[in-house]
Amino acid sequence: MIAETMHGAAGRGHGYAEATLAIDLDALKANFATMAARAHPAECAAAVKCDGYGLGVEPVARALSGAGCRTFFVALLDEGMVLREILPEATIYVLNGLAPNTAPVHAAHRLRPVLGSLEEIAEWSAHCTATGRRLEAAIHVDTGINRLGLSEADVARLASEPRLAEAFDVTLIISHLACSDQPDHPMNARQAERFDALLARLPPAPASLANSGGVLNGRRYTYDLVRPGIALYGADPRGRGDGSLKPVVRLTGRILQVRTLAAGDCVGYGATWRATRPTRIALVSVGYGDGYLRALGTTTGERRTMAAIGGHRVPVTGRISMDTLAVDVTDLDSGLAVRGGEVELIGDTVALDEVAAWAGTIPYEVLTNLGSRYARIYKGLDPD
Ligand SMILES: *Cc1c(COP(=O)(O)O)cnc(C)c1O
Repeated sequence: MIAETMHGAAGRGHGYAEATLAIDLDALKANFATMAARAHPAECAAAVKCDGYGLGVEPVARALSGAGCRTFFVALLDEGMVLREILPEATIYVLNGLAPNTAPVHAAHRLRPVLGSLEEIAEWSAHCTATGRRLEAAIHVDTGINRLGLSEADVARLASEPRLAEAFDVTLIISHLACSDQPDHPMNARQAERFDALLARLPPAPASLANSGGVLNGRRYTYDLVRPGIALYGADPRGRGDGSLKPVVRLTGRILQVRTLAAGDCVGYGATWRATRPTRIALVSVGYGDGYLRALGTTTGERRTMAAIGGHRVPVTGRISMDTLAVDVTDLDSGLAVRGGEVELIGDTVALDEVAAWAGTIPYEVLTNLGSRYARIYKGLDPD
């Protein structure tokens, strides 16, 4: 196993970063295998948009490719161009569709737009006709989320005028679930039924409906190809991890100093947290400037944010500052909380799903906010 450290996302820094983001590519590969097995015989693709959900698209895409992934989804044309350099052979779809006048760029980089309107279909067709090249593309149909995709009326139009999409190969027809993170929501079955009805009106092509939640909700949703993202990165979008997905991310900071407080003393900006007993506080080298969400500060009750030292959970106290946060280590062996010691903020003891819930958000937002100030360590990088 080779570990490589990059200091900051842009490779800046001099090796003294105070916080570390360890990304376990072996766990990522294992999660891909888990999702692929769940979806089999459907093909398992991967969503690697937004820089591989904030974890670094290059190592992430290489690892997934090594695990057998052949088809990738990005959101933007730019992301597709970056991914094409990394994976010359992969099939790459651009989810946000065809931006005006970008057909030649898609073609030059062998990127397949996910066409989401009749206008986009017309523009792609025109490009294919003009260049005499029968290119590939996906068609996106809306089944209720009302985000991107052809409406039912658009599909009717396409059904009555098939020549509109005859200049190119439709390699995939996709739709997207609105409520797959809530398995019992009636919207799931309703969208699958609408998808079936729309597919029946279009020329035959492989079909894809499921993101991570869809795959985890069962075979009704897997069709010919599935497009998980968040599950590969270690989070169950339904917030009820059954242990089958491995944590991929471990975020740790260092203890800068340990302070002793008397009852009544307060901690942090706004003096929002007050000690009710003699208290020991460890100041940790991570703050909202690193993407550790400020919403994780000053939580109470069910939403009490925890960190971990030596495998023991300790509460986060007071507000999160830009560069530091504080944890209450009063109940910890004094040998565990020492200057320079490691504090886990996300990892094996403090799960990503939990951190998201404490922040009042979803794991997607926690990951895509992870900043560029950490040293990034990739475990399981293939030598090449
Ligand atoms: C982001 C995205 C996915 C992946 O979703 P996850 O919930 O992360 O699995 C799949 N399909 C579309 C259209 C997306 O935008």
